[in-house]
Amino acid sequence: MDALDTRTIVEQNAENYAITSWGDPYFKVNGQGRVIVTPEGGNGIDFGKSLDLYELTQDLLDRGMRVPVMVRFPDILKHRLDQINSCFKNAFQEHSYQGRYRGVYPIKVNQQRHLLEELLRHGRAHGLGLEAGSKPELLVVLSMLEDPDALIICNGFKDSEYVETALLAQKIGRYPIIVVDRFEEIDILIAASKKYNIKPHIGFRVKLNSQGAGRWVDSSGARSKFGLTSVEIFEGIDKLKQNDMLDCLELIHSHIGSQIPKIQSIKSSLKEGVRFLTEIYRLGASNLKFIDVGGGLGIDYDGSGASDVSVNYSVQEYANDVVAALQSLCDEKGVPHPDIISESGRYLSAHHSVLVFNVTGNNKLIRTEPPQRVTRNEHQVLQDMQYIFDKLSPKTLNESFNDLSQLRQEFLQLFVYGVLSLEQRAWGEAMYLAIATKMIQISSGQDDVDHIRSVLNQELCDTYFCNFSIFQSIPDLWAVDQIFPVMPIHRLDETPTVFATLADLTCDSDGKIDRFIEGSSGETRPTLPLHELKKGESYYMALFLTGAYQEILGDLHNLFGDTDAVHVSLDDQGGYHLDHYIPGDSVSEVLSYVQYLQHNLMEKVRRASEESIKKGCLSKPDAKQIIKFFEEGLSGYTYLED
Ligand SMILES: *Cc1c(COP(=O)(O)O)cnc(C)c1O
Repeated sequence: MDALDTRTIVEQNAENYAITSWGDPYFKVNGQGRVIVTPEGGNGIDFGKSLDLYELTQDLLDRGMRVPVMVRFPDILKHRLDQINSCFKNAFQEHSYQGRYRGVYPIKVNQQRHLLEELLRHGRAHGLGLEAGSKPELLVVLSMLEDPDALIICNGFKDSEYVETALLAQKIGRYPIIVVDRFEEIDILIAASKKYNIKPHIGFRVKLNSQGAGRWVDSSGARSKFGLTSVEIFEGIDKLKQNDMLDCLELIHSHIGSQIPKIQSIKSSLKEGVRFLTEIYRLGASNLKFIDVGGGLGIDYDGSGASDVSVNYSVQEYANDVVAALQSLCDEKGVPHPDIISESGRYLSAHHSVLVFNVTGNNKLIRTEPPQRVTRNEHQVLQDMQYIFDKLSPKTLNESFNDLSQLRQEFLQLFVYGVLSLEQRAWGEAMYLAIATKMIQISSGQDDVDHIRSVLNQELCDTYFCNFSIFQSIPDLWAVDQIFPVMPIHRLDETPTVFATLADLTCDSDGKIDRFIEGSSGETRPTLPLHELKKGESYYMALFLTGAYQEILGDLHNLFGDTDAVHVSLDDQGGYHLDHYIPGDSVSEVLSYVQYLQHNLMEKVRRASEESIKKGCLSKPDAKQIIKFFEEGLSGYTYLED
């Protein structure tokens, strides 16, 4: 194959998996047909630092790490942080905006300490703050955020313990803003403030009438869980006034849900939110200096720019629209420009982690050779199938397809009724696959039989067995039908010849992927083009954009635990270093979550083997072996190891 061919194939593959769109600017395919990571984005030849994901995987395995492995790229986090900050800076210039951008990271998106530390390290230059939505999260953010200028946004359900803890944190140099999410919290806040004689920084979360769109549409609107109605805001202002605390009201907050696909919904809810700000200012909250526009800044999971898992706007457009709305409405009402806070969790973290896994095998249904011919003595059903196979032609395709479905039903029934033997049923199934395979072959190029081809393709597609758990690593795929880009990380200089669905390691029938991105069309397809597996050679694939929510939502279905995780930083010389290696759960760790202790389990096995030795049904060497397997198993990985 000449170089030009290879280049065309690589380009075709890149388009086909749509990595050119959802991967932009961090993931690309190089001339060797490997996925590369380019954390500084860039384009053309000069995309800054880069790393070959396949080589990295080999390197990790050489060091004794295991697949599946979650690879985190702190450089991507840094790039995201820089990008959103510079987009707001641009927008400020364009609109002569007086306020600052004060991004906060909502830690519920991914609370892992190493990730938080990376974010805070890179975020220091931008004054990155943190957001907490629960008591445990509050304790994390209050202790981790040491920058006295950075904001701590306190959201979620609050009791007096929550409020008092946040309040007292002011005494250790933190800047917590306690956001009143529900009306009752105002009284708790006033009481706590009196008890410790501390003036709080207060925010009001407003309930907007405008709704977001997409999967999380219920986060906003009149029936949303959080936020004050206009009546409650009015009464709340009164309460603060009576207690001489209206000057403590510093922030107006709204959040219309996550992954908002359309900029139009962001714009309209924003306008409503800003109107609340200007009105509350007019009612005397003269110290109102922050507007928190919440999360919702989406990312492009399918590269289409047009579906619910995509976005029809860039982060620059997002920043422009937020700033434009604020500038015009505030100027109109004579309100000083507030600092802008966004809680863009998904935007910051989704790209930075990639799950690399191996394929452990496949199940092929395509059958190019028919089974042995049946004789005239065989059951009529089988003879009819033989007849279909022999007579199959483009002309008879439609008719044969209908007959085939019926015959299949029949021979399965006849087996149940005791008429056909297991051998006969096996022959029937083999013949069915052979006919279906032949039908797909002769249907190619015939447009009028598209429906037949697509039914059969779906039925005959391969299953690739993948070494990971959907429930642990991409729970949103199962829970909310989220789509994640998934593709091989090598051999992209070869044209894929197989169509397959993916099955994970769990025993759950939901543990499969059968919806894939169809190029960058925004459509989905039931199978993924993949390469034929080669004997003695591992096939590696990766799931992308998994850095937001998946890690913490992941569960222990079938007792598959956390995967290994590794932090990889790139240098300018084309090298990289491993900053952290966080081993995944061992079997005994996972078992301890469900209250099985290693020594108890070992004790039981020892006792059973002692008894068997006594009875003479177990030799001492075999007993030693069982104990050894148990011990090794308990300290091993929960995933398949080679
Ligand atoms: C979940 C949540 C966020 C994060 O939203 P993203 O869409 O991930 O940016 C921000 N703010 C609040 C109040 C949230 O509940």
